[in-house]
Amino acid sequence: MSQSNDILRQILKEYDDQRKMEERAREDRQNEVYARLPEVKRIDDEIESFSINAMGAYLKNGKDPRLALTQLRQRMDFLKTRKEQLLTEAGYPLDYMEIHYVCPLCQDTGYIHYEQCRCLRQRLIDYAYHQSGLQKVLEKENLAHFDLSLFDDQPISSETMTPRQNMQQLLKRVQNFLHSFSSHPGQNLLFSGPTGTGKTFLCNCIAKELLDQGYTVLYVTAYDLCSLLEKERFQDRSRSVQLTFTSETVGNCDLLILDDLGTEFNNHLSTTELFHCINQRMLSQRSTLISTNFTLGDISATYGERFSSRIIGSYTLFRFFGSDLRRKKRYREGGAL
Ligand SMILES: [Zn+2]
Repeated sequence: MSQSNDILRQILKEYDDQRKMEERAREDRQNEVYARLPEVKRIDDEIESFSINAMGAYLKNGKDPRLALTQLRQRMDFLKTRKEQLLTEAGYPLDYMEIHYVCPLCQDTGYIHYEQCRCLRQRLIDYAYHQSGLQKVLEKENLAHFDLSLFDDQPISSETMTPRQNMQQLLKRVQNFLHSFSSHPGQNLLFSGPTGTGKTFLCNCIAKELLDQGYTVLYVTAYDLCSLLEKERFQDRSRSVQLTFTSETVGNCDLLILDDLGTEFNNHLSTTELFHCINQRMLSQRSTLISTNFTLGDISATYGERFSSRIIGSYTLFRFFGSDLRRKKRYREGGAL
């Protein structure tokens, strides 16, 4: 059994457990309502016994079938309205007795008409790249928690804007990117700037917004991605399913966030594999966000003309500068510098 099939089987079991849990929770809520409002129970019983039984009874009385049907519909409408009225009066939301799915699109089955739902594709990515901790980070690091006051508003020599003004502009451009993500597919961003100037925070903001909109996001460091791709390359043929799995998820996710470009640079194989990934995504019009401490000059000097001209030509540059925010934040929170 290949690793990717094992992962899929494990995740589908989790979906199954999730649905069972939701069904139990629904039953608990239903019993609670029945105990408090016995009339709701009587209504549900009548609705359940409706259809053939009720229709048969009407017809037995020698009624016109069309009239019988109309009367049944009226009775059903009355029962539904009465039930809603009872629930509302008791302070329950109208969907209180329904199943509450985590993903209403696939009703927590992972599939929509035999196609993998986005929630399943994202879970596969999270599993394969140990991304499960990402959600926790994103609860804190998102646009709603963006604190512009952390950025210096003092002019910096050689820059026309203060770091705060620069960040204000970058934020606006990020919002434009997010708004046009579906209408303009294949937009690529290059975040360039020193450590601690807000790149990772802004990457997280983008990941959070797109995940919330139902897109699949793979957030991986260049180092980890190269290690995975190299491992795949050297794996024997019997592990080939795992091989396609990594390449496929890297190629198919709606947004690839490639963090810390430059830290992986140690041999030519990495560069080739990386270039191939980035190129494939460009060809299939899928967005990539590259974040790096390198300047454009560093990229050119490290990866050569071919790679850098491709990046410069197809990526929109977001330049970060200013003092190290991580140090500043720790200082504000009373920690040691
Ligand atoms: Zn789903």
